[in-house]
Amino acid sequence: MLRIGSEEEMRSAFRPIDQDEVQLPSDMLFPLLVRDTLTWIEPSGHRAYIVYADPSKNSARGIVFKRNHATADSPPAMCDWCHSVRGKGNVGLLTASVSRSRRIGLSLCRDLNCIEKLKETPGVHDLRESVQTDEKKRRILDRISHFARRNLF
Ligand SMILES: [Zn+2]
Repeated sequence: MLRIGSEEEMRSAFRPIDQDEVQLPSDMLFPLLVRDTLTWIEPSGHRAYIVYADPSKNSARGIVFKRNHATADSPPAMCDWCHSVRGKGNVGLLTASVSRSRRIGLSLCRDLNCIEKLKETPGVHDLRESVQTDEKKRRILDRISHFARRNLF
């Protein structure tokens, strides 16, 4: 669990290259607690944001993704982070800036809500199932931070 005390602290979780593009939701209140990930989409729908706790640093990291246009008849695709296969344009190509001239693309849940969706999954009535959910969550967080460490931060 991470505490983000102010808007400045939130903005500084993003890389300088992303900072100009960060649009915080108008109803975002500080201080705010980030449990696993915090995600939002800007009103235009062009950009999606994720803030997560970097396990190696115990600090917040933020990534700005541009969303490619997707339509309801896009073929089903698999999310690189949570491995869900979803149709109707719910998984699509998202890209992040590596440098001013280079972007990197991933196939992701377009709302970046991989972890929220995990919590919605039914069948967490017994201990074994909930351990599996925690394990899945850990793997998703590992994939996010691994991607970011390797390519962005
Ligand atoms: Zn996903």
